[in-house]
Amino acid sequence: MRRPFIAGNWKMNLNRASAVALAEGVAKAAESVQGVDLAVCPPSCYLDAVGRAISGSKVLLGAQNMYHEPAGAFTGELSAAMLRDLGCTYVILGHSERRHILGETDAAINKKVHAALSAELIPIVCVGELLSEREAGQTLAVIRRQFEGSLAGLSAEQMATVVLAYEPVWAIGTGKVATPQQAEEVHLALRKLIEQRYNGSIAGSVRLQYGGSVKPDNAAELLHQPDIDGALVGGASLRADQFLGIVAGAV
Ligand code: PEP
Repeated sequence: MRRPFIAGNWKMNLNRASAVALAEGVAKAAESVQGVDLAVCPPSCYLDAVGRAISGSKVLLGAQNMYHEPAGAFTGELSAAMLRDLGCTYVILGHSERRHILGETDAAINKKVHAALSAELIPIVCVGELLSEREAGQTLAVIRRQFEGSLAGLSAEQMATVVLAYEPVWAIGTGKVATPQQAEEVHLALRKLIEQRYNGSIAGSVRLQYGGSVKPDNAAELLHQPDIDGALVGGASLRADQFLGIVAGAV
């Protein structure tokens, strides 16, 4: 049985005071939540403060990115060990904004996934097609390419710990949400890819999140699809009531 997992990606938003206030609000509201794993992923500069604000609560900490090298002359980067040191459990890797705005490739993401797993960080690996790719009928081919490239070389044990997030690029921050059927089709395809490479038991245990304009009013229908195990939430995670409204759709 896969436990639902809802994570908030705060992106490059908030300031120190508002990040702490939001974290406190989410931690408080999460007290009554049962049976759902929760995480917030603030900007790196607020990881420490947010980590303190959610300490002892049901909400775990995630980062939005990291670098694959363990240490050295990599100006501006953070290592997996640094994120662990800050109290992170999760790290989002290969978000579409990093792929398409910052030019991250599947090969670079794959190095990060290996480095995260070596440091006992759980990667939330994002995949998703552009609108032009969907319109050209290439969605499943894009997902397969990103799955194979970003997750190359993982053992079955490593794969079982990874979280995969299907985030169609055309649905991120646009208000256009994939229909539950569109999302489920890709989630099922991802599960089949895992089964083909590993086995049915690993495929049945990996958690697959949907991301792309998830809001309280569309969450339940998406989250009740058989292969959708949670959500990666951008805009709506910036308000505790909306984030918890989405969490309510998972139970
Ligand atoms: C995201 O950035 O991962 C995301 C899904 O954003 P939004 O919910 O705003 O579409």
